[in-house]
Amino acid sequence: MDLPEEEKQLSQKEKLEKAQKLVSNNEYRNKRGTIMREVSGCLDQLLEKTKNRQQRANTIFSDMYLKLEIAIMILVILLLSICIIVRKLIVVPLVYYNKSIMEGEIFPVIGAAELQKWAETYNKVFKENEETQRLIRRQAEHDAMTDALNRGSFEKLLHMYENGDTPYALILIDVDTFKTVNDMYGHAVGDEILKKVTGLLKKAFRSIDHVCRIGGDEFAIIMVEMTSDLKYTIEEKIKAVNEELGTENENIPAVSLSVGVAFSDRENSGESIFKDADKALYYVKENGRNGCKFY
Ligand code: GH3
Ligand code: MG
Repeated sequence: MDLPEEEKQLSQKEKLEKAQKLVSNNEYRNKRGTIMREVSGCLDQLLEKTKNRQQRANTIFSDMYLKLEIAIMILVILLLSICIIVRKLIVVPLVYYNKSIMEGEIFPVIGAAELQKWAETYNKVFKENEETQRLIRRQAEHDAMTDALNRGSFEKLLHMYENGDTPYALILIDVDTFKTVNDMYGHAVGDEILKKVTGLLKKAFRSIDHVCRIGGDEFAIIMVEMTSDLKYTIEEKIKAVNEELGTENENIPAVSLSVGVAFSDRENSGESIFKDADKALYYVKENGRNGCKFY
């Protein structure tokens, strides 16, 4: 700032004195005080405003943080719920289905509706298959006409018992003069006789014994848990069957059976239990038929 002309003429000392007078007078002090107060007021206001802004920013930030926390919690709860539902409706049923397949059982009907339908369809097919298999097995093991076990089953069973520890009796049975019966009454009547013989044998023996048709008019019974000291039970059974067959009824002519028996615990056993039982049967055939002989 330029000084007025008269002040420019002043010496340095005079200028200093004048300046000192100016800064120490009342007017100057008052003005300075006013300026200082106003500056301080401005600063206070600025500080207040800054504080307010900071507080507002803090509040906004806390709000956002709280909302974010709530959103994350909801997300976690949602994820957990989805996990629980998926486990209950899908994972657990699939684990059970797998177990059922491994153990060859039907599926438990559990889980989501679609899986339950799936399980029901599987169970239906499973049961149908089981029934078909049962029928096929039955047809493969049984003689179609008499429903006795067939020759194949007999051979398997005999092989099993021959190699096992269970005492048993092999009973070979042949219908006497069956050719003549067929010739006299016809094949159909002959068939009825074979069915009647099967029925009577099944009735006379226990359900654990195996009644088999091993040829045209030949039958074999594997009587399990049998020892030679129990011969009389077989004799009684055969006698009862022969008595029943000996009476003509419902247009079925009287017939008789020749029977040869060998026990697994027999003494002086021959080549095989079958051959030994067959020897006993041959003896009956040679000695008047209608009877039972033990090897
Ligand atoms: P034997 O007392 O010596 O046993 O005399 P048999 O006449 O019974 O002679 P054999 O046992 O050898 O004859 C069996 C007959 O059984 C021969 C055959 O015509 C008849 N046969 C075989 N299978 C069947 C069948 O499925 N149905 C009928 N009706 N007869 C059959
Ligand atoms: Mg015969």
